[in-house]
Amino acid sequence: MVVCKFGGSSVADENQIKKVKAILDEDKNRKVAIVSAPGKRNKEDRKITDMLYECNSLVQQDRSCKRVFAEIGKRYLDIAAALKLDTKKLTLALDDVRRKIDAGSGTDYAASRGEYLSALLISEYLGWEFVDAADYIVINPDGTVNPISYERLATRLSTGSKYVIPGFYGASPEGVIKTFSRGGSDISGAIAARAVGAELYENWTDVSGMYSADPRVVENARVIPELTYVQVRELSDVGASVFHEEAIAPVIPVKIPINIKNTNRPQDPGTLISADADPRGLIGVSGKTGYSRLKLRKLMMFKKPGMRHALLTILHLYGVRPSYSLFGIDSIVWLFESKMATDTVLTSMCERLKKDFELDDVIFERGLSIIGIIGGHMDESEAFIDAVVALRDGGIHTNFVNFGVNRTTALIGVSEEDCTKAVQTIYEKVF
Ligand code: ASP
Repeated sequence: MVVCKFGGSSVADENQIKKVKAILDEDKNRKVAIVSAPGKRNKEDRKITDMLYECNSLVQQDRSCKRVFAEIGKRYLDIAAALKLDTKKLTLALDDVRRKIDAGSGTDYAASRGEYLSALLISEYLGWEFVDAADYIVINPDGTVNPISYERLATRLSTGSKYVIPGFYGASPEGVIKTFSRGGSDISGAIAARAVGAELYENWTDVSGMYSADPRVVENARVIPELTYVQVRELSDVGASVFHEEAIAPVIPVKIPINIKNTNRPQDPGTLISADADPRGLIGVSGKTGYSRLKLRKLMMFKKPGMRHALLTILHLYGVRPSYSLFGIDSIVWLFESKMATDTVLTSMCERLKKDFELDDVIFERGLSIIGIIGGHMDESEAFIDAVVALRDGGIHTNFVNFGVNRTTALIGVSEEDCTKAVQTIYEKVF
């Protein structure tokens, strides 16, 4: 069986949904479709999910979401009318959603309705069964998938029919609607693929695969034909946004291959992600802005047992969860996403750390970005040295270097202003 996930751009309007149908009709093994909420139809357009978040925030401010919700409703009803569907059921569902958002059902409920309505509409159009993710997918409080989801979904999807499932959400163990992080329909697709023991998980989007660099930044970037689960996770983590970095977790233990495909060019082979792709060679380069760094120094810091743990506990209290760490004999450097804390919060955190731990130095810096070069055996690769030299020759200062444990990634820290130029420089030099 093949499980297919269609992203927001693939279901953005009636023409896109017709393409979805053509793709599903073309292969009888495609029996499960996971759908996103309608995405942008053009650059100026808005995603339905963003509009639903807005509705919820208006309601929270005691304001009316009538105007925004009317726009949402119109989008679905226009699509349904263009596909010649009976709009009665959809109108009822829209009314119900509006009522519940107004009644303060909360952020996750509101956000999840984009996928819910999308799946209702598409299941009607395809004549496939609608299966509500909230009844089968259980999301733990920490956002991970509860394994019971696989069993439940496997039983539900075993009636020999074809199914449409809304992506992006499930329910908490207590049965309350809960969403994954943004772009989370990729995770829902992976859960369904694992549940049915799919031979392939197809992830349909609006590009012909994962690129060796962001094509908006690097003109001659190319589609990567094959890469491993680990590489895709690392590439997504440093900003390649085609595939959600958490979406490989459900399929890794059962080794289901993932094919990233283009709904607008289904004939393109796309990118195949599997456990067995050749891990050597250079795969891609990507950069992510929005990082800050915390530097701590204290003579004989690590003589005190549990010091690192105690420091991290304080960081967590201030909402700072580091993404990368560097440890020296008497120092620690932690990189974290800037949005985690304001300057005021960081200043008071630094004061507290300095006082409580009698640190010699503690400072934070803003405006950093992380560039990841992904490949195989990066720690032995000439490419890494060439990349650093090219950055230096291009006047770009490198302020951080890190190789992960799995040898697939070299991370290089540069300033935020240099991020794009660094990606271009590295691509030109080593790819
Ligand atoms: N609609 C959700 C979002 O915009 C989830 C998804 O598309 O995967 O993030």
